[in-house]
Amino acid sequence: EAPRKGWLDRLRSGLRKTGSSIAQVFTGTQIDDALYEELEDALLLADAGVKATQFLLDDLKRRVKEAKATDPQAVRLLLVDALADLLQPLEKPLAVGAATPTVVMVVGVNGAGKTTSIGKLTRHLAAAEQRVLLAAADTFRAAAREQLGVWADRAQVEIVSQEGGDPAAVSFDAVNAGKARGADVVIADTAGRLPTQLHLMEELKKIKRVIGKAMEGAPHEVLLVVDGNTGQNALTQVKAFDEALGLTGLVVTKLDGTAKGGVLAAIARERPIPVYFIGVGEKLEDLETFSAREFARALLE
Ligand code: GDP
Repeated sequence: EAPRKGWLDRLRSGLRKTGSSIAQVFTGTQIDDALYEELEDALLLADAGVKATQFLLDDLKRRVKEAKATDPQAVRLLLVDALADLLQPLEKPLAVGAATPTVVMVVGVNGAGKTTSIGKLTRHLAAAEQRVLLAAADTFRAAAREQLGVWADRAQVEIVSQEGGDPAAVSFDAVNAGKARGADVVIADTAGRLPTQLHLMEELKKIKRVIGKAMEGAPHEVLLVVDGNTGQNALTQVKAFDEALGLTGLVVTKLDGTAKGGVLAAIARERPIPVYFIGVGEKLEDLETFSAREFARALLE
């Protein structure tokens, strides 16, 4: 399926916001220390972080030497290669179908775009003829439940919801309902929380445990939704949620219109968890599979 026209442009324009254009580093005529220093600054400004920035600079210098590059534009293209190679391990599709139902637990901080991403994912899976059942395990916020209900209606999928119930119990019921009704995928939405809220992190562990009691081997996927616009903060969240729950995949949202897209390099270097999807807008169709090379090109063009 061809990418919807325009989203790559939105991704590019965000990534290139004033002051953070990496491509601008290569507009001169010389390959010298000043160029590498400017590049270092630009990568740090794009929130690639110290470790990935150092790795990329070393890797790039090696490539430049090997290719005997003499033109800054050639160096830029070598950086595209270096970044694409660094990001490659993150490029992995969400696999459904190995288990029936495949149970996907979705976690994240408030406002990251969790509910929106579940709506997008539901639409994506329903379009691929997958029978989806949603579990509204965010039992705290009525608004979150309602929003999920709207997405369920729109995609014409079933939803298991219970006002003020225990989120682990709702998830348990939803997995059993998914089994009984022959769902292909059960997606459990959980309430947003900060990884520093330890009692709430314990609650997530409990939800995960209880899902495993409803179905052996479940949840098959634990997805973290992170706001790409928060830069290095996103990396902190990835590490903390991974340590608590063992993440299997990420959805990185709001990559339309952010200058901090370099954080994907930091994630690749420090906690390489697959990026199943990226969010590139507020509409339901604004969900794309992650391509390392496309992303590297968008960041560096
Ligand atoms: P939740 O609290 O994590 O469930 O977050 P929501 O799904 O309610 O999203 C919070 C806000 O972010 C909403 O205004 C969404 O429309 C917006 N949002 C979510 N994903 C994206 C995205 O990929 N791009 C943009 N621009 N906005 C997004």
